[in-house]
Amino acid sequence: MSTTSGLPQYEVIALKYATRNGARPDHFVGGDPHDVPMPMDYYIWVIRDGSRLVLVDTGFNQDMADKRHRTLLRRPVDALKLLGIDVADVNEIVITHLHNDHVGTFDDFPHAKFHLQDDEMAFATGRFMCCDRFSRAYEVDHVAGMIRLVYKDRVIFHKGDAEIAPGISLHHIGGHTAGMQAVRVHTARGWVVLASDASHYYEHFEKKRCFSLVYHLGDMIEGFERLVSLAESPQHVIPGHDPLVVKRYPAYAPALAGIAMRLDVSPISE
Ligand SMILES: [Zn+2]
Repeated sequence: MSTTSGLPQYEVIALKYATRNGARPDHFVGGDPHDVPMPMDYYIWVIRDGSRLVLVDTGFNQDMADKRHRTLLRRPVDALKLLGIDVADVNEIVITHLHNDHVGTFDDFPHAKFHLQDDEMAFATGRFMCCDRFSRAYEVDHVAGMIRLVYKDRVIFHKGDAEIAPGISLHHIGGHTAGMQAVRVHTARGWVVLASDASHYYEHFEKKRCFSLVYHLGDMIEGFERLVSLAESPQHVIPGHDPLVVKRYPAYAPALAGIAMRLDVSPISE
């Protein structure tokens, strides 16, 4: 573990903006013998201290909810307002990968620059998008929109790991998509790792089981180990879509129970 003296201690907040039904066999390569419900939650994440604000992913709006049969609970920009964050305050956004549920509202942030892996843009615009198996979670208008932002100098490309601020770094994981990246943040409880879709649920990285939508199985499995090695402890890894995040972490404020969870403090339950 690298030295942490003098690093900022950020607040990290998960904002739940959507949900959908699902069953266990949907979420694992090879299915699952237990055909029972396994709903999926959708989050964006806020990293901030007194002087810096970084948004991780932008979620989707009603258009994707209608098209893909998800339940939008609140637009991501409205979820941010619950924390007192206006779109005008958001200048820096990490896009973990370009799937529709992670980049879908990029247009709502006219002042932001977007951190993206080289490999993700190459993947989303390259030969594998000829295949529905890989392209179906992308939305061509989102990808085209990001290309437009490249031409406006609003995309910051990374090749592999990168520190984007003291105590905030990006880590290329791959696996789920070719350019999937996780975010490591220094907090009062040590290093928290926002896995995003490098591990959809706790069960994926804990049991080394792969999510059903996968580009490279080997990278996904090695990625699970990488997530844990980057974090202060396995308990500091935050999966991208697990409803347990709502249960395990305290609400940001009583009025935001079930919506905004503090990830920079210890979990309240296992
Ligand atoms: Zn996702």
